[in-house]
Amino acid sequence: MTTTGTAPGIDFSFGEDQELIREEVRRFAQERIQPGTRERDQKHEFPAAIIEELGELGLLGMMVGEAYGGAGLDALTYCVAIEELARICPSTAVTMSVSNSVCCWPIARFGSEELKKRILPPLASGGQIGGFGLTEPGSGSDISTMKTRARRDGDSWILDGEKAWITNAGAAGTYVVLAVTDPKAGKRGISGFVVPADAEGFSVGASEEKLGLKASKTATIYFENCRIPAANLLGEEGQGMKIALATLDHSRLGIAAQSVGIHQRALELAVTYAQERVQFGVPIAQHQAIQFSIATLATELEAARQLTYYAASSAATRKDAGRLASQAKVYASEAANRACAAALQIHGGNGFCEDYEIARLYRDVRVTTIYEGTSEMQRLVIARHLLRA
Ligand SMILES: Cc1cc2nc3c(=O)[nH]c(=O)nc-3n(C[C@H](O)[C@H](O)[C@H](O)COP(=O)(O)OP(=O)(O)OC[C@H]3O[C@@H](n4cnc5c(N)ncnc54)[C@H](O)[C@@H]3O)c2cc1C
Repeated sequence: MTTTGTAPGIDFSFGEDQELIREEVRRFAQERIQPGTRERDQKHEFPAAIIEELGELGLLGMMVGEAYGGAGLDALTYCVAIEELARICPSTAVTMSVSNSVCCWPIARFGSEELKKRILPPLASGGQIGGFGLTEPGSGSDISTMKTRARRDGDSWILDGEKAWITNAGAAGTYVVLAVTDPKAGKRGISGFVVPADAEGFSVGASEEKLGLKASKTATIYFENCRIPAANLLGEEGQGMKIALATLDHSRLGIAAQSVGIHQRALELAVTYAQERVQFGVPIAQHQAIQFSIATLATELEAARQLTYYAASSAATRKDAGRLASQAKVYASEAANRACAAALQIHGGNGFCEDYEIARLYRDVRVTTIYEGTSEMQRLVIARHLLRA
């Protein structure tokens, strides 16, 4: 029988550990991250010192096993941490989520014991952050058309090509990279690699001028006769497509959680502003149109949050966890975009001004329906699961 998505009896109530992490991350975000958020956004300044502190708090190797220096926590706890970071600074949240979920996660899941012991401890302890190279200038949603090549040369792999839109480019010490190893084998001719930033032939381009997430780093990375040890092959040769899809299935949870955090903040800003701003002799919160807007915003927030927690709780247990992650990502990101638009509308002209936080959130939220798979791709994944198409 095809399962259509209900799982009666699932319990994702939080344990004490998760509540403690929520409190700790919330306090850190408010005390350490919030004060400089606007300035870093304006100056396009990467929060290097803050990221280092996130490492000290154990937030950069959250799902890496303790044997490799990580915190050994589950996807739900990870989502709670992302949500709290994104509420204050979506740029910091994406920097942290990329390192955890598209760099550490595939290494922990597919790497050899030797690779895990060598690569994960500095990432998990925060000495380094990670990146993920999948997208290319000509290969976005259709990753099977990637052109970056890897060929075996004795005890090395040699990579040639480029990867576009790479979060943490230039800041990361390690990248998980997908490349074609056998052009004749189609989707089975792609393999995954771990590329250290100091590898010969590796370089980073200029930072992209983005609409939002201006305090996160995004750039193209280049491989020109880039030589890495043969042992840096991730999993087996030809497993790259499987690695990429499994990684994205998992990492979408982080983008759903990032969206929930932004949505939460948009609600807070809308409520505060509506209670302060007076028009027609009363706070605008007393006008029913504003009340309805806030009620919708709050209702969609709860729906997005519960779906995200449900998908995260299912990550390790359900066969259709990938579909649930896509459903959480598409719903939470689109709801967060609607929420930021509604909250900005409630701010009137002030919302169009960078003096008000909602203006930054409105820019930052836009990418959540695009990266780690567009909304259209999420709908394809969901439909394929249901229709076996
Ligand atoms: C800020 C930022 C950070 C990023 N970080 C990373 C990173 O760290 N690593 C990395 O590898 N990539 C990263 N990306 C790339 C991101 O994952 C891609 O932008 C995304 O997957 C979409 O690919 P594309 O931009 O090439 O769009 P395209 O694939 O060209 O799509 C363009 C439009 O066509 C639609 N479309 C395409 N095919 C179909 C179809 N079959 N049916 C219906 N609609 C379709 C898409 O949904 C989209 O609306 C990042 C992007 C951004 C903006």
